[in-house]
Amino acid sequence: MEENPFVKKWRKGMRRIALVYPNAYASGIANIGLQYIYAYLNSLENCICERFYLDVHNCLRSFESGTPLKDFDLALFSLQFEEDYFNAVRILRESGFKGLKVAGGPCAMINPKPISKFFDAFVVGEVENSKVLDVIANAKTVEDLECEGIWVKEGRVKRIYPKKLDFYLNRQIIANSVFGRCLILEVGRGCVRRCRFCVVRQIYSPPRWRDVRILIETAEDYRGFVDKACLVAPSTLDHPRIKDLLSELVGMGFTVSPSSTRADRLDEEIVEILVEGGLRSVTIAPEAGSDRIRDVLNKGLSEEDIINAVKICSERGIRSFKFYFMIGLPNERFEDVKGIVELVKKVRSMKVDVSVSINPLSPKPHTPLQWCPYTGFDDFKEGFRVLKERKRFLIRELSKLCEVNIESVERFAVQTVLSRGDTDVCRLFDFKPNLRAVEKLGLTKYLKRIPLEVELPWDFIDHGYKKDRLAEEFIRACEFRS
Ligand code: SF4
Repeated sequence: MEENPFVKKWRKGMRRIALVYPNAYASGIANIGLQYIYAYLNSLENCICERFYLDVHNCLRSFESGTPLKDFDLALFSLQFEEDYFNAVRILRESGFKGLKVAGGPCAMINPKPISKFFDAFVVGEVENSKVLDVIANAKTVEDLECEGIWVKEGRVKRIYPKKLDFYLNRQIIANSVFGRCLILEVGRGCVRRCRFCVVRQIYSPPRWRDVRILIETAEDYRGFVDKACLVAPSTLDHPRIKDLLSELVGMGFTVSPSSTRADRLDEEIVEILVEGGLRSVTIAPEAGSDRIRDVLNKGLSEEDIINAVKICSERGIRSFKFYFMIGLPNERFEDVKGIVELVKKVRSMKVDVSVSINPLSPKPHTPLQWCPYTGFDDFKEGFRVLKERKRFLIRELSKLCEVNIESVERFAVQTVLSRGDTDVCRLFDFKPNLRAVEKLGLTKYLKRIPLEVELPWDFIDHGYKKDRLAEEFIRACEFRS
């Protein structure tokens, strides 16, 4: 059940806009950017916006009134994950929707080409404080959508973003989200770090933080209404006044939960505030099993930082840890993979519970690793063989120590094709989403190393970085040996 829902009734002459989240309700409602879009569109006199979720009427009828998708004038899809493309295409096909189709979200900002055939336009950027939502609300034709920050499938596009995070939701919908039933406080966007595999630092640059005073005022409005506050940002604990913010929230009686934690930010003071605020388990992303590979990734985190963070937390009563790693990294040797097991052994010896989640690296557009071969090997078949062997080794060794989940090598290969592909990937949506279909359609070329001089499918998006700088970082990562 939702608290604080927005209630608006359709009147004749109003434009109907469908806000479609082709994934589960719990993750959709946790997205504060989508809540902003929903509230803004409904604040306009001439339109009504209703939401669609995969687990509510199969995304074919609206959450609010059960109105079929095909009765809406415009569908605005939020593409958060490449694998959601298959849901999005299925929804468009099954619903019989004939109106304008626009997509936004991180995937549209990264590379919309693989799904471009199914949409009229893509929003490239963050829409707050821009005129994009007004343009969308009034658009009757594709030509009406032409505006800064919207790619109408030709030419170049420059990402838009608000320079300051000075906009706030008047009414946040509180519901059972992936963070639980809580007030969601977006503390910042972008990231001050420079991890080479991470697309967040590129597509949400520059890093911007929200004013602590206004965040506290927002929390004050919800005090007594919810007792938990979730602090959301790509690297929450890097907020320059995070300790003040956490202390104030805890003092107000909130339990607090940061959406991400960096091991090197977990000092005694911060952990004590978090424990007082109800934190019982901590998630850490060492990413790799050795300092050498963390240096390749420019993660800026050492094994000493990780062990130290676990020590500080466990001494203050936190007994449960979740660790995230990747495999198939550039320059990765078997000893680096064995390092994952060694690190988990060290942490387990500190008498704490650990669960481990491991993904193959999917090299992302706009990052210095965008030219890397999937699996890290130039020989495609050899790379798959080695990665699967490493996966088997990790399952065998880690399952003796802790709970372990390792994602499928094939599944992440498909994800990489959806992320790095060109318009020819649109054909994939006529098939089951698996590696067999990728091979059959000759799309394995998107899993291979990309020569530096080749024009990339996503080069038409201007995110404000210099490609030469990315190339220098890529070369540095590949040449890293010590
Ligand atoms: S991985 Fe995390 S810390 Fe590194 S750049 Fe991305 S958001 Fe920042």
